[in-house]
Amino acid sequence: MLVRETIRKLSAIVGRERCRTDREDLICYGYDATDLHYSPEAVVFAEDVKEIAAIVRLANETPFYLIPRGAGSGMSGGSLPVRGGVVVALSQMNGILSIDTENLVAVVEPGVVTGHLQAEVANLGLFYPPDPASLGFCTIGGNVAECAGGARALKYGVTKDYVLGLEAVLGTGELVRTGVQTAKGVVGYDLTKLLVGSEGTLAIITKVVLKLLPQPESRRTLMAVFEQLGEAITAVTRIIGSGLLPCALEFMDQRSIRCVEDYLNIGLPRGAGGLLLIEVDGVTEGVTRHAEEIRELCLRERAQRVDTAGSEAEADELWQARRAVSPALFRLNPDKVSEDITVPRNRIPDIVATLEEIGQRQRLGILCFGHAGDGNIHVNIMIDRSDSDEVARTKQAVKEIFEATLELGGTLSGEHGIGITKTPYLGMEIDEIGLDAMRRIKTALDPKGILNPGKIFLDSNERAAVMGKLWKTRR
Ligand SMILES: Cc1cc2nc3c(=O)[nH]c(=O)nc-3n(C[C@H](O)[C@H](O)[C@H](O)COP(=O)(O)OP(=O)(O)OC[C@H]3O[C@@H](n4cnc5c(N)ncnc54)[C@H](O)[C@@H]3O)c2cc1C
Repeated sequence: MLVRETIRKLSAIVGRERCRTDREDLICYGYDATDLHYSPEAVVFAEDVKEIAAIVRLANETPFYLIPRGAGSGMSGGSLPVRGGVVVALSQMNGILSIDTENLVAVVEPGVVTGHLQAEVANLGLFYPPDPASLGFCTIGGNVAECAGGARALKYGVTKDYVLGLEAVLGTGELVRTGVQTAKGVVGYDLTKLLVGSEGTLAIITKVVLKLLPQPESRRTLMAVFEQLGEAITAVTRIIGSGLLPCALEFMDQRSIRCVEDYLNIGLPRGAGGLLLIEVDGVTEGVTRHAEEIRELCLRERAQRVDTAGSEAEADELWQARRAVSPALFRLNPDKVSEDITVPRNRIPDIVATLEEIGQRQRLGILCFGHAGDGNIHVNIMIDRSDSDEVARTKQAVKEIFEATLELGGTLSGEHGIGITKTPYLGMEIDEIGLDAMRRIKTALDPKGILNPGKIFLDSNERAAVMGKLWKTRR
């Protein structure tokens, strides 16, 4: 419990206006994109690295917990204050500090909204490829902390492939600068990569040096409609196997298509069993040729039709359908259990068949969509938490889905991270030696366990509490 004196000291660091303890803020900053809630004891809106270093030092002296937070759009509970403490909101540190058009490097503060950075660099003919579907509101700091991916990961990789260097405040309060501002650099351990994906448990990121690319000359978006999901998935394997590399290769199953159509009413084929959204980019002649080759290939694989967007606006409309899947699903049922398993690409047909089998056996509607090109499948089970039997069957289904994923050589999370929602399952994928090595890194950089406690690692008492919260029944 924070004492009044601590609040006074925090206010002295950031000013009274930016240190909030009113009920409204404590409620709002206790949520993210999961349906979990944990209330913080205070929220501070940091404006610069000096304030953050001072806050972390104070937290060590007192002590109290700190929970870094970007936009709170995380899907695994990473920004939730599970043990109380102070949320450090980074949304006001949102400056684009420089865009170097000669060296193709941008330096930004962590609170910059990803889509805003993309638009700013695009104005200069440059390209920042990572494109989480949440890019309209999520922040670069959150993307770095989660190593966010997106539809373009197939060709361009994920956030870690674009982070050249970082400035961050470690759990000790020390300021560390990692990496380089150059295209290459191999001096010392790669602390940049260590911090990317560390989910706010090792350091608070205060500045990010990002690699940019030239804007591709042209881009073509296609939508291929299949009677059966299996045909769509076969087409994915054929496209990749043919040596073509689209920048995005997304799929939606029948239930997802219907949900989006009911939600947006944009003319999606409600009867289709599977839909692929494919984008190719590069030099114009290559794009035209590759788009045509992909179109023909999809038709050979029994696509009922393949539409090609004729303009940016039409392409945006097709992407709108894909980005709307997540919110659209709530038309089915009030509660969502969402996983983002990833399997080797050529095992997608196997995992899709297994998901179907698990869904039938557990009597659950499992919806799939996601990044077919890189094997990252968003598995959504829409349930009603007032039905305790349905909750129990969902819990069992999730365990079986994780087991099947690992058996196929996959991983439990492609991009959403462990946060708290996957903590009870971490040991299924990482053995005790690996976990112990990670715990030792945590202890070295955050010896008092100040930063984002209860994330990634759990002790046995917490495990039961987290499982209880994850699989709660609504009365
Ligand atoms: C509709 C929707 C679509 C989504 N689509 C995608 C997708 O396509 N791909 C994808 O990868 N994710 C997706 N997400 C998940 C989410 O948007 C990403 O994980 C995103 O990176 C989180 O950014 P944020 O700013 O909201 O971070 P938050 O949710 O605020 O925080 C996420 C984690 O990062 C830590 N953190 C935040 N800022 C910092 C910092 N400066 N220093 C240290 N730690 C920090 C937090 O402590 C927390 O652990 C989606 C979410 C929604 C709601």
